[in-house]
Amino acid sequence: MPSTEPSARPLAGRHALITGGGRGIGAAVADALARLGADLTLVGRDEARLEQTAAALRGSSPVAVATVAGDVNDEASMAAAFERAAAAKPVSILINNAGIAESAPFGRIDDGHWDRTIATNLTGTFRCMRLAFPAMAEAGWGRIVNIASTAGIKGYAYTVAYCASKHGVVGLTRALAIEAARTGVTVNAVCPGFTETDMAARAIANVAAKTGRGEEEARRELTRINPQGRLVQPGEVADTVAWLCLPSSSAITGQAIAVAGGEAM
Ligand code: NDP
Repeated sequence: MPSTEPSARPLAGRHALITGGGRGIGAAVADALARLGADLTLVGRDEARLEQTAAALRGSSPVAVATVAGDVNDEASMAAAFERAAAAKPVSILINNAGIAESAPFGRIDDGHWDRTIATNLTGTFRCMRLAFPAMAEAGWGRIVNIASTAGIKGYAYTVAYCASKHGVVGLTRALAIEAARTGVTVNAVCPGFTETDMAARAIANVAAKTGRGEEEARRELTRINPQGRLVQPGEVADTVAWLCLPSSSAITGQAIAVAGGEAM
C-alpha cells in the first residue's frame, strides 16, 4: 500500500543554488535544504570556506554538494557559476543570501559605501534572479527566496544604504512574484532580525567601538531590539527558508516574512 506519510526528503531531485553559502545564514540554509534532500551548489568568494562547509554537508546528508567561486558584484563570474551549476542539474531553487552591512550616520555615507551596498545586496540579487528565473519558469516549478532583513520592512538609524538595499530586495520580490504567479515559480523574502553570525558580531564590535561601551553592553543593546530579548539563530532563519521551498508552500508567494521574535509585524 502506498505511504500516506509526507516524504522525509520532499526536495529530493531538486537543485538549490545558495549565494554566500559558506557561512552564517547561507550555510544554515544549505544544511536545512540538504536535510530535505536537495542537491546543492554553494557560491561565494571564499573558496576554502565554501569547500569546508560542503565537506561537512557531504558527511551529514546523502546529497550532491558542489562549490563554485563567484562574486555577486561580477556579472560574468555569476553567469559562469549558474552555467556550471545548471550543467550538473537544472537549478530549481535559488537562495539569494549574499549580503554586506555597513553602518554610518547619514551625513557620512559616501558614494563608495552606497554603491557597494546597493550593488551587492540589491543588484546582485536582481542579477541572480535574472539568471535563474527563465529556466524555472520554463520547467514550471521553482523557488526563489531572497534573504532581505527587518531592514527591508522598517527603518534603523545609521543604516540608510543597507535599509534602502533591503527595501529594494522586498520590492523586487513582490514585483516578480506577481509576474511569475502563473509559472509555478514562487518568489519570497525572508526578513531576519539580528541573527547570530559574523555579521552580527561585527555590528556588536562596531557599536562597542563607536560608543565606547563594552561588547556586553553593545550586545544587550542589540538584543533589546528583539521583543524576545535575544539574537535570532541562523537555523531559525534556515527553517523558514526551507519551509518556503517545500512543494506544499506553492500558494505562498510575494511575502516578506520576518523571523525576528516579534520585532516587525
Ligand atoms: P555573514 O557576514 O556571516 O555572511 C555573508 C555571506 O555573504 C558570506 O557567505 C559571503 O560569502 C557572502 N557575500 C558577501 N559579499 C559577497 C559577494 N560580493 N559575492 C558573493 N558572496 C558574498 O552574514 P550573514 O550570514 O549574517 O548574512 C547573510 C544574509 O542575511 C545577508 O544578506 C544579510 O544582509 C542578511 N541578514 C543578516 C542579519 C544578521 O543580523 N546577521 C539580519 C538580517 C539580514 P564570501 O565571503 O564567501 O563571499
